[in-house]
Amino acid sequence: MTEFVQVKNFINGKFTDCVGLLDSFNPATGEVWAKIPDSGQYEVDAAVNAAAQAFPGWSQTPQAKRSAILQKVADILESRLDEFAVAESRDQGKPVSLAKRMDIPRAVHNMRFFATSCLNHQEKANYMDIPGALNYTTRLPVGVAGLISPWNLPMYLLTFKLGPALASGNTVVCKPSEMTSVTAWMFCEVLSEAGVPPGVVNMVFGTGPKAGDALVRHPSVPLISFTGGTATAGVIRAATATQCKKLSLELGGKNAGIIFEDADLEKCIPTTIRSSFVNQGEVCLCTSRVFVQRSIYDRFLEKFIAEARAIKVGDPSAPDTWMGALVSKEHAAKVTGYIQRAAEGGATVQCGHGIDTGIDGSNAINPKGYFVRPTIITDVKDDDAIMQEEVFGPVVCVVPFDNEEEVVRRANGVQYGLCAAVWTSDASRLHRVARKLEAGTVWANCWLVRDLHMPFGGCKSSGVGREGAVDSIEFYTEVKTVCVQIE
Ligand code: NDP
Repeated sequence: MTEFVQVKNFINGKFTDCVGLLDSFNPATGEVWAKIPDSGQYEVDAAVNAAAQAFPGWSQTPQAKRSAILQKVADILESRLDEFAVAESRDQGKPVSLAKRMDIPRAVHNMRFFATSCLNHQEKANYMDIPGALNYTTRLPVGVAGLISPWNLPMYLLTFKLGPALASGNTVVCKPSEMTSVTAWMFCEVLSEAGVPPGVVNMVFGTGPKAGDALVRHPSVPLISFTGGTATAGVIRAATATQCKKLSLELGGKNAGIIFEDADLEKCIPTTIRSSFVNQGEVCLCTSRVFVQRSIYDRFLEKFIAEARAIKVGDPSAPDTWMGALVSKEHAAKVTGYIQRAAEGGATVQCGHGIDTGIDGSNAINPKGYFVRPTIITDVKDDDAIMQEEVFGPVVCVVPFDNEEEVVRRANGVQYGLCAAVWTSDASRLHRVARKLEAGTVWANCWLVRDLHMPFGGCKSSGVGREGAVDSIEFYTEVKTVCVQIE
């Protein structure tokens, strides 16, 4: 009989059973490897009650003690890095090497960073000489925070919420994606071992429309931090509209890479390969539209295709695998559907899915896995679906442009505004273009280089709110102004 990993809800410091269970698939083999609770209102109520009861104790725990506990969480997680990386890969499909290099170290860093940055937070004070009054601000945790995270970077994004929420004194109920729940469940053990008191962190596993919906609507949850798709964010906004909840929404992107003719292609091409295909293209910040100045277009494209073809796709546990499997059968079908429709509409698929066949099967540990080769598409129009909609897979379009004004207009011509990358050796142009791009983050001659102190978030349909050292503390607290007449 096959042994499955049995994920359990974590409520009030205890692992608890749930009547209904869901299958969770290993994307590299297409086989069920874990059973997940199919939680609903009952489990969410229990978790919210536990969090509400734990709130007075945790919120009044001295900041330095909270910080010490959270730093211990980071230390224990770090000591179990390899084990978490293997589980993250099996659950999500990403290479183990990537989880070891990126996901789990970043989760450790998130916990450590917010545990310490909150110790350095300062508030404001003003003295008014007439009428002689001191005004100052003070911050208080909001209460029970609902944290909803997606499947692409499970531990990375869960801890990006959990770290600041807990450091600020809130208690939480987390709802990870039902497709990638295993590492969040393992993490509960780490939290307990580090001394996080019962009820401070509760994990409820299950689907978005059932467990997630019960959490966002819960009247005792005044704050929701959500990372996921733009359409789901619309559902959450509508569901919470009458309750005036605090919402942070980190959503999708259709990110542009803009490559001017004076760019250093030796750096630009490998970085754009990474920005397009890392984590199977399943990163909200991945580049999906590459605009290349016409004079270097052919040269860029030839090298870019050659590097994409050289990517090793396959068994996520093999040390030399660079790209693993997409998260689910349905998601792989969605991604390949976009490629197919683009081709039917007259686009040229230069490499990857449907072109470099054979590589998938031979590199995959199992042909039933959800593998899609890095795919480069040309000869598309700006208003084609593949240039407008978030594909969230290893698919990138490359198109030529002639001048700066034109490329800024075209890069901004989508509903999203998460990030962009600009490649040029002209410093004036770089700053000029960065200011004009409608995006929350602009990378110049680099990608994914961001200090956690800096605000992170999107504009337009890519989200509402910012997270980072100061921004996260501001979001996870209510500020109060105290006015004292002293003369
Ligand atoms: P979804 O929006 O489908 O899901 C995100 C989370 O919300 C999951 O935990 C999901 O649960 C849950 N959920 C779904 N429906 C509801 C609901 N009605 N009420 C409450 N919760 C719900 O996104 P994906 O998981 O597919 O993630 C991919 C998306 O996330 C992409 O659009 C990507 O761009 C975006 N993203 C944005 C980032 C950013 O920082 N801007 C970073 C990473 C990803 P379940 O999956 O279990 O159904």
